[in-house]
Amino acid sequence: MKILVVEDEYSLADAISATLKRENFDVKLAANGEEGEEEALTGIYDLILLDIMLPKKNGFEILRTLRQEKIDTPIIILTAKSELYDKLNGLENGADDYITKPFHMQELVARIKVILKRKSNIENTNILEYEDLKLDLSSGKMISGDNEISINGKELELLEIGR
Ligand code: CA
Repeated sequence: MKILVVEDEYSLADAISATLKRENFDVKLAANGEEGEEEALTGIYDLILLDIMLPKKNGFEILRTLRQEKIDTPIIILTAKSELYDKLNGLENGADDYITKPFHMQELVARIKVILKRKSNIENTNILEYEDLKLDLSSGKMISGDNEISINGKELELLEIGR
């Protein structure tokens, strides 16, 4: 899992990076808004931690650009202010969550995991599982242990209704 950290405060960026690496994430740091935006636009990250007050380009601008460019990477805003405005502005502009500085690293890790889990649940909604049976609704394939069975449209419809 690759995480992009856009944060200009070196000691904080460093601490976040160390924590995430211990959790086996791949971490990339960007120390200003322009670099952060450029990295984020590659779309290769599983999650982005985004500071608001950044040199060159602020977090809100980056957020807007990403959503305009249809980059749907989950974003957690790191805000220095506890002001409601910042949080609402961030969420309205497409952030998935926010965390107010100073925060505990364990809280950050917990929030990251919740969002990544939510994301993978959404991606897997076409797969139904029951004990060792797996049914992929998008391809119409049923997998039981090592056996793969293709099922037809009618059967699939019935299974969908039963869901
Ligand atoms: Ca900052």
